[in-house]
Amino acid sequence: MRPGIETIRACGGLHRFIGWDRALLTDSGGFQVWSLGELRKISEEGTEFRSHVDGSLRFLSPEVSMEVQAALGSDIVMVFDECAPGKAPHDEARRSMELTARWARRSRDRFDELQRVEADTGRTLVEGLSGAQALFGIVQGATHLDLRRESLERNLEIGFDGYAIGGLSVGEEKSVMWDVVAEIAPLVPADRPRYLMGVGTPEDLLEGVVRGVDMFDCVLPTRNGRNGQAFTSRGKLNIKNTQWGSDLRPLDETCCCSVCRRHSRAYLRHLYLSGEMLSRISLTHHNLAFFLDTMRRVRQSIRSGKFTQFRREFTEMFNSGVE
Ligand SMILES: [Zn+2]
Repeated sequence: MRPGIETIRACGGLHRFIGWDRALLTDSGGFQVWSLGELRKISEEGTEFRSHVDGSLRFLSPEVSMEVQAALGSDIVMVFDECAPGKAPHDEARRSMELTARWARRSRDRFDELQRVEADTGRTLVEGLSGAQALFGIVQGATHLDLRRESLERNLEIGFDGYAIGGLSVGEEKSVMWDVVAEIAPLVPADRPRYLMGVGTPEDLLEGVVRGVDMFDCVLPTRNGRNGQAFTSRGKLNIKNTQWGSDLRPLDETCCCSVCRRHSRAYLRHLYLSGEMLSRISLTHHNLAFFLDTMRRVRQSIRSGKFTQFRREFTEMFNSGVE
């Protein structure tokens, strides 16, 4: 909706527009349209919805979504899917999963056409890489394991560069979510990335990795940062609490991010209570550094064969509480 795809195209793609020359993943809009609730209408062809910006009627389909993501020029493109509610009964989840499978085929076909004519914007040639976009499929089926397995099979038949597990973390029990992940992740070929969409807390990341997940995405580090919550090696810290009023220690004494090297809890609390954006920006910056560092440590521990030990130590420390 904003600033509009023509602007991004005119600016040479998303990488150039935002000044980021590393990997970018874009979602297809399927989940975002689903989250509009009443404002959308789904048919075989695609989804009609009202713009939250100006109320105008818009249309998204697998083809439109592939065209938009080609214009953005992201490195990883997601297929256009339909997300069933977390607690959808079997028949509703089946209907949704089958629609998603047909949309995955259409996404693949349109994506391949666009790649053949090199339609993606801002394609950059890096040595050893073609610069072409990658397309990931999405496994749906709500909490029903038989539907999840069938969804994965249909995705594998089409063939994708990576496979995502979608439609989780949308209101179902956590234990149910982990049952689905434990069932599906090991069935994805080992040479393809496994991506768990919309997850999660630092502890969730470790739970996902245990079950074979490689990639995650989540709003937690940024949204919670904006709301005054910092993630630290000793758990969550609420910057609004009175106890930090004159505390000159950084958010996390073991963190090397630029915020922790420079600013105290007392100052960040003062900025937050004064309504200064800098506090929310600083907490967001720290939280992102903490999540990235956690995943870096996960990869290191896997390489050295010590993931189990790392997971135990990390969890113990994370649950010890900020003092
Ligand atoms: Zn930090």
